[in-house]
Amino acid sequence: MKLVQSWGRLDSKLHQVVLLTSPQQSKIEIKEKFPGLAFGNGRSYGDICLNPNGFLWNTQGLSNFCSWNPETGRLTTEAGVLLKDVQQTFLSRGWMLPVTPGTQLVTVGGAIANDVHGKNHHAFGTFGDHIIRLWLLRTNGQEIECSRSVNSEWFEATIGGMGLTGVILKAEIQLKQVSGPWLESETIPFQGLEDFFSLSDSSESKWEHTVSWIDCLAGINTRGIFMRANPSKHIEREKTASKPKKIFFTPPISPVNKFTLSFFNTAYYWIQRGRSGKSIVNYKDFFYPLDGVLEWNRLYGPNGFYQYQSVIPRETGLDATREMLKEISRAREGSFLAVLKTFGKRPSSGLLSFARPGVTLALDFPNRNVKTLALFKRLDSIVEEAGGALYLAKDNRMSSKMFVKTYPSLEKFLPFRDPGITSSMSRRLFGS
Ligand SMILES: Cc1cc2nc3c(=O)[nH]c(=O)nc-3n(C[C@H](O)[C@H](O)[C@H](O)COP(=O)(O)OP(=O)(O)OC[C@H]3O[C@@H](n4cnc5c(N)ncnc54)[C@H](O)[C@@H]3O)c2cc1C
Repeated sequence: MKLVQSWGRLDSKLHQVVLLTSPQQSKIEIKEKFPGLAFGNGRSYGDICLNPNGFLWNTQGLSNFCSWNPETGRLTTEAGVLLKDVQQTFLSRGWMLPVTPGTQLVTVGGAIANDVHGKNHHAFGTFGDHIIRLWLLRTNGQEIECSRSVNSEWFEATIGGMGLTGVILKAEIQLKQVSGPWLESETIPFQGLEDFFSLSDSSESKWEHTVSWIDCLAGINTRGIFMRANPSKHIEREKTASKPKKIFFTPPISPVNKFTLSFFNTAYYWIQRGRSGKSIVNYKDFFYPLDGVLEWNRLYGPNGFYQYQSVIPRETGLDATREMLKEISRAREGSFLAVLKTFGKRPSSGLLSFARPGVTLALDFPNRNVKTLALFKRLDSIVEEAGGALYLAKDNRMSSKMFVKTYPSLEKFLPFRDPGITSSMSRRLFGS
């Protein structure tokens, strides 16, 4: 038995960890050691990747590239390969992942199971939109190859399916052709949510990537930094990406409090404001700024932290975001990391995918138990009333009632669940 935590470090529970090393061995292991759950790299914040006191099938041994077509840019890879390895291996050949989340330290299987999104959702949709086909292994030994045209119902259930339909062994991904690792970026300070929306609206047709950081303690006077970027044609530049640093210890109490937050947010705003304008940046610095500090999740101390990420339709987005920021500021809670971004109109490939047209707000909160949970309840009401939803990859406490109400394709998904798979989240949200 081994103690396993997810990224939020809220809990540390014992698991029977089984390393999957090949498709053949996986078949034997999951038939013998179940019920269980596939585990990628534990970069989900909450309980979606945990199965305390039960089996956890660690997929990191499924780490081979299977085939590569340099003409079409189609890569078939085992599911335990990290996005970092895909980027590093294929960038020198002129290809990259078309969609990537804010960390490249996640596995291909984990990226499919959460149907992750990036800063270019308005232009490229989600990770699942670029999966050509995938190979699924069920705990009864059945192997299912599925795509948009073959066994399409399995494909739709597995993309964004929280690992509950089976273990993804392999996937074929369509990579995107690029000139090199550089992006032409622009940083623009803004004041007020109306400004944010107008910057987003005017940027989406011309800029591939858009995202903004906001000062969540500023309440209704929301100020922030809008960042947008396009791939650059520059092939050679002298500057390389910054080298990662590491947090080596967990402080006994979280240094994240209203004073440090207020100081950090003000300082960050003014530093970034001073850097506003155009520049050429390396893709790692733009896509993965948080990978620059390894194990930064320890900074929240022994109680860990939550991330609260919502999506709200555009029609209600402005008012609901304003309401949420008011509640957070009133509670004197908040985070260093507060990200606001608009999703495009494209519907996602998966039945339970999170990304949908609207505006998404993501914030980290140190775990202060009752106080933090009470704030989340108030935020939940705003999200529900505005017709929004919460991101399962980040969640650890949403009620089953809210889940059922805000994921309308749930009924369609249920027949595809693998009865040999269970997780903390599935027990919390589905009751099994
Ligand atoms: C710093 C940081 C930034 C992030 N930024 C973003 C972002 O911008 N956008 C975004 O969408 N997400 C983001 N995330 C969340 C992260 O991308 C997802 O949680 C991702 O799914 C984690 O992948 P993982 O390989 O670590 O999987 P895990 O967290 O280990 O597992 C996630 C889910 O995938 C399932 N799973 C894993 N492997 C398989 C498999 N082979 N077969 C079937 N199921 C499997 C697990 O059962 C679980 O349900 C971020 C996370 C961090 C830490």
